[in-house]
Amino acid sequence: MIGVGDMVLLEPLSEDSFIENLRNRFDHNEIYTYIGSVVISMNPYRSLPIFNPDKVEEYRNRNFYELSPHIYALADEAYRSLRDQDKDQCILITGESGAGKTEASKLVMSYVAAVCGKGQEVNKVKEQLLQSNPVLEAFGNAKTVRNDNSSRFGKYMDIEFDFKGDPLGGVISNYLLEKSRVVKQPRGERNFHVFYQLLSGASDDTLKKLKLDRDFSKYNYLSLDSAAVNGLDDAANFRTVKNAMQIVGFMEDEVQSVLELVAAVLKLGNIEFKPESRCNGTDESRIKDKNDLKEMCELLGIEQSVLERAFSYRTVEAKLEKVSTTLNVAQAQTKARHKVMGVLDIYGFEIFEENSFEQFIINYCNEKLQQIFIELTLREEQEEYIREGIEWTNIEYFNNAIICDLIENHQSGILAMLDEECLRPGTVTDETFLDKLNTICAEHQHFESRLSKNSKYITDHSLPHTCFRIQHYAGKVLYRAEGFVDKNNDLLYRDLSQAMYKANHSLIKQLFPEGNPAKVNLKRPPTAGFQFKASVGTLMRNLQTKNPNYIRCIKPNDKKASHIFTDSLVCHQVRYLGLMENVRVRRAGYAFRQAYEPCLERYKMLCKRTWPHWSGPAREGVEVLMADLKVPAEEFSYGRSKIFIRNPRSLFFLEERRRQC
Ligand code: ADP
Ligand code: MG
Repeated sequence: MIGVGDMVLLEPLSEDSFIENLRNRFDHNEIYTYIGSVVISMNPYRSLPIFNPDKVEEYRNRNFYELSPHIYALADEAYRSLRDQDKDQCILITGESGAGKTEASKLVMSYVAAVCGKGQEVNKVKEQLLQSNPVLEAFGNAKTVRNDNSSRFGKYMDIEFDFKGDPLGGVISNYLLEKSRVVKQPRGERNFHVFYQLLSGASDDTLKKLKLDRDFSKYNYLSLDSAAVNGLDDAANFRTVKNAMQIVGFMEDEVQSVLELVAAVLKLGNIEFKPESRCNGTDESRIKDKNDLKEMCELLGIEQSVLERAFSYRTVEAKLEKVSTTLNVAQAQTKARHKVMGVLDIYGFEIFEENSFEQFIINYCNEKLQQIFIELTLREEQEEYIREGIEWTNIEYFNNAIICDLIENHQSGILAMLDEECLRPGTVTDETFLDKLNTICAEHQHFESRLSKNSKYITDHSLPHTCFRIQHYAGKVLYRAEGFVDKNNDLLYRDLSQAMYKANHSLIKQLFPEGNPAKVNLKRPPTAGFQFKASVGTLMRNLQTKNPNYIRCIKPNDKKASHIFTDSLVCHQVRYLGLMENVRVRRAGYAFRQAYEPCLERYKMLCKRTWPHWSGPAREGVEVLMADLKVPAEEFSYGRSKIFIRNPRSLFFLEERRRQC
């Protein structure tokens, strides 16, 4: 074993020794390290020979601590408790961009696919689950400066299993796709993969039908400086994606519709407007060259004059309505209960130099995840000790509920104030929003400070203009209020959605239901912040019903390079992932626990008095066993239904003895 495989066993424990251990293991190709049952995963940035069918077999049906740390061990444990103990699971994967979250989610999925059920039908389902990835990545991933295959959306997938543990299908939810990337990409970054894949990989015939040119430089939306990415074969990926769409269940004509839409977006990007003076002295916008418009309309079956008008005019709504939507009430479930494994691959905490609405939303989501982590790990842990009658000294931990409240409180939270501002008649700007925030949060802060002395909203004269700061659990983040109002409004003018709804193209029609003239009185669509808060709420309620498994991904360097381990960068991530806190909690308690029956079953061969049969209660059998093996008494506590093992070392000892038998 290189270094210490489980940070719970690290002596002495400090941030330095923690990072040194990660580095030592990383240098020896050991990219996984445990904190109890949490897996820390370091991105190797090169392919290691540890993900293959042989490895799958090695980890299959083995105890979590028996083999060296691996993501397969976590996947195996989760799958077995789902199958054998009927406990729904969720796999929570966090980390910053490029840390390896998406790869980790794919490794978990492929492991589960490899070990669960067999047979033609089951294999078809497995293929569909696995092939959903290339499709989602084509439309939702892009090359960024941090990651050549960066997911620009958060993903949660519930994989459903029947009572035998065979997969039945999956439900995918996605969160906050970075839509603005279609129109504009930061320097050195690309648009979503699908555009390049289509132009590089489609046949001449297909391109002709789509009225497209193979040359990227013909399209305003495709930035030139970074169009080709090392190691990324767009043409080959196009074939993979088309094939994957077919496996997932798209019909031939549906694939075609999707490609038409992609082509139409490229055309849309080429439409340029010019001002034209009118005789009354005002300017009107006019389309410069109508060829792209014409082709776009042909692709989508829209009458050119309709779209042209929608581009140039805006009908101003007479009155703004207050946001009010009824959230879907989950339909009563009557079908047989399925077992579910949820896999969450979502953007980690972001602290950039410039933090905008997107970072604010992403960081809010991470606060919620941290809250779940605190709730599920700590609270559940403590409650279990109480249930089992085990002595437990409370350990102090930082509860971030106050930060979540600052953001999401339905009256005085930042999101609520933003919504209020967005819906207020009169002139609304990012500055009026910030003023409101400063006034209300400062009052709130005054109130809070008497209560807790640590408000999380920080505003003072040292801050740059139009900025506010939040003390997140992971650190202070400075947000620039610029763009908050627009991004939260996320308005598509009704003229445009109505024009799109007129298209003679079923996919487009489905995408703009709000353009249906019969529904013209629809309430104002909910704001981006409101929608996000609602979907995060749903996600959290879903996760709360499941048994959590954590994978914490860490990026070793910011050069996308193998073999480089930058201490400062790793240290930063260790801090905001809260890993030291995590070890502390684990060490304060018991690293391992097992119900008496399976424990006796597993180890009874180690003691003459329990082998081959023990006739008394299982608990007494286990006590006899431990006494016989002379395991120090302080290593164990006997709960009502389980034995609690303080230190994984004692478990290793038992496992070792068993192997020697
Ligand atoms: P994230 O989803 O956290 O942004 P990704 O999972 O997309 O990050 O990983 C970024 C890149 O790092 C991948 O494209 C791949 O090149 C590399 N990578 C990540 N995990 C692994 C791994 N286990 N083995 C080899 N390379 C990896
Ligand atoms: Mg990703």
